Amino acid sequence: ALEALFRQPVMILIFLITLLGISWQLTIFVLIVLPVSGFIIGRIGKSLKRTAKKGQNELGEVVTSLEETVGGIRIVKGFTAEKIFARHFNKVNDKHFNLMVRLFRKQYLTSPIGETLSAITIAMILWFGGNLVLEGDVLNGEFFILYVVIFSQMISPARALSESFVRVQRGLSASERIDEVLKADEQIMEVPGAKSIKEFKESIVFKNVAFNYGGEPVLKNINLEVRQGESIALVGPSGGGKSTLVDLMPRFYDVIDGSIEIDGQDIRDFKVYELRDLFGIVSQQSILFNDSIRNNLLVGNENADEKQLIDALHTANAHGFVISLPEGLDANVGEAGNRLSGGQKQRLSIARAILNDPPIMIFDEATSALDTESERLVQSALDRLMKGRTSFIIAHRLSTVQHVDRIVVIDKGEIVETGSHGELMELGGLYKRLIDLQDLS
Ligand code: ADP
Repeated sequence: ALEALFRQPVMILIFLITLLGISWQLTIFVLIVLPVSGFIIGRIGKSLKRTAKKGQNELGEVVTSLEETVGGIRIVKGFTAEKIFARHFNKVNDKHFNLMVRLFRKQYLTSPIGETLSAITIAMILWFGGNLVLEGDVLNGEFFILYVVIFSQMISPARALSESFVRVQRGLSASERIDEVLKADEQIMEVPGAKSIKEFKESIVFKNVAFNYGGEPVLKNINLEVRQGESIALVGPSGGGKSTLVDLMPRFYDVIDGSIEIDGQDIRDFKVYELRDLFGIVSQQSILFNDSIRNNLLVGNENADEKQLIDALHTANAHGFVISLPEGLDANVGEAGNRLSGGQKQRLSIARAILNDPPIMIFDEATSALDTESERLVQSALDRLMKGRTSFIIAHRLSTVQHVDRIVVIDKGEIVETGSHGELMELGGLYKRLIDLQDLS
């Protein structure tokens, strides 16, 4: 379409100059009549663009509905909610279908409308030119026929031009949508001339950090210094802001107020990619890809050799179950790792984090979803992973964090207590109440 947009105008211009040479009166008449049909085609193009844009949005909804239903198929079946989801899918799908019908109807209408318009234009030219010939000296019969022949040659490039115009409009609306999606991720901006950060030497410091997701404050007045090598547990009632706090360090979100510094430098001054490379994250939901165990591990470090893979599996307490699989390291983990148990998936995520070898580890409820036996295996893998690293551990089960260097209790977005397990028990505050609730004292 772009090619036509550049080539056709040149041809049209050459034809127009020739036409001007034959009869300027007739050509001026043509130039008055043509823009009218051009305007009509333009209007159709705009309306097509609008419909096409809506179509893109609604296709997005159809895909989301499909993805959610298939992703949550256990829940859908477990609640025998197939009908509800089928109804929802049909609704969005019908909406999209109707819109596409409207779009294609408009699209196919442009061609007959274009032809009718050109027939009308030619009729008007024949009428006006015929009159000029009949009047005598302005234009003679032969030249009028030549004029009509050349003009008819001009119609096809003109139509190609208007068609490519319509196509470009459609493309533009699609690219606008893509732009929206791409730009959505640009909330975290890297400053020009961002500094490089390859290692973490001294400390991470939160200075008066405040944060919200656009509404109520989620974190306020956070002051915390974590030395290199320290292990910190974040505990407290759910919704208190623990996950948000750790998300701020790799800049998944930026602080609203205050600052976070690594080795004395604001993290916003660093290259985002290198900053994120300092962190390894093991979360409650282990995210594995539908591929072999080997390839899932290589996500952590694509250059790891066989020995490193095996060592990482050993450290993560995962070697035993991996070699018991018939295909070993080349066994496929299934969609989202579904062929493995929760604990196995978690131990593979840990092996992946070990291969990645980051100086700072974040564990976000890494053992919460596991039964006691797998929790024990995962916990001992985690303990090995934490050695020599700085770690942030968000834990619901307080028994798993009693041995860390420092426990930070967060409630309603604020740090309410800090100290070791013993100190906090003595203090008799929120931490002690939580422990009593979990009956661990
Ligand atoms: P915790 O980890 O302590 O359970 P979170 O950090 O997950 O707490 O959540 C803190 C608060 O922020 C909650 O009130 C939660 O509803 C809100 N929240 C978390 N993530 C988002 C988000 N992406 N958008 C809007 N609000 C969020």
